[in-house]
Amino acid sequence: MLFPSGCPVCGFENRVEFADSSIHDVTCSSCGKPYCLFVRKQKFEVLFDLGTRALMDGYAREAVASFAAALERFFEFYVRAYALERSAGTEQSFDQAAASLDATWRHVASQSERQLGMFALAYLLREGREPDFLSAKALGADFRNRVIHRGLLPPRADVEAYAARIFALIDRLLTELGRGAAHAELAQERAFAEHLSRLPEGVSAVFEEHPGMFRARRFASSVPAKTPLPARTTPVSSLNDAQVFARALAERGAGLDWLRRF
Ligand SMILES: [Zn+2]
Repeated sequence: MLFPSGCPVCGFENRVEFADSSIHDVTCSSCGKPYCLFVRKQKFEVLFDLGTRALMDGYAREAVASFAAALERFFEFYVRAYALERSAGTEQSFDQAAASLDATWRHVASQSERQLGMFALAYLLREGREPDFLSAKALGADFRNRVIHRGLLPPRADVEAYAARIFALIDRLLTELGRGAAHAELAQERAFAEHLSRLPEGVSAVFEEHPGMFRARRFASSVPAKTPLPARTTPVSSLNDAQVFARALAERGAGLDWLRRF
């Protein structure tokens, strides 16, 4: 998957392939100068945006795999945010906590069922209640399996309903995480800083924040809770999943235009 990136030296628009690490070493196709592009975005956000873009472009079936992967990566994000948040109040340094977390994650990295188990416990410990939204039915697991493993060609409306369910769930959990999400984001900043410190002289560093479906919500979580809602705005809690997704799509869908051109 390619996206456009302006060269910091000559302004030429290069085509850059999404890197798993969000760190992209680029050589400009026009002026030949190297630069390093850091994209401040979490994996689950990238995946959900790719799914949304595919859905908007009419690739409903392809979108399902991206939405399903977005949910799995979000569960990882939640576990990481919680583990780092919890260690923040202890004598353990951030680096020690992050290293233990990475080592622990390796035990579950190749099996999504194990990851789901970690998420369930993290949710219980953080929120003090059962993650009752984790049933296979609520997660649309059967639909996902029929599409991905059995080749079902789903009607667009079913994919929209699936996307809405996942969006509403992630949106709700991000709201509950609030500032806790910053701990997982800090881990990304640390990885960026480490790469930055090793860049050869003469290589420019560029930091970007691409607009996306969840970005606005994340920033909203840092707004003081008592900010009054504008009059006539329907409170989010009274909207169903389809309405939450439709509203986000109306507000932020156009922000995904940068994904369309390549
Ligand atoms: Zn250039």
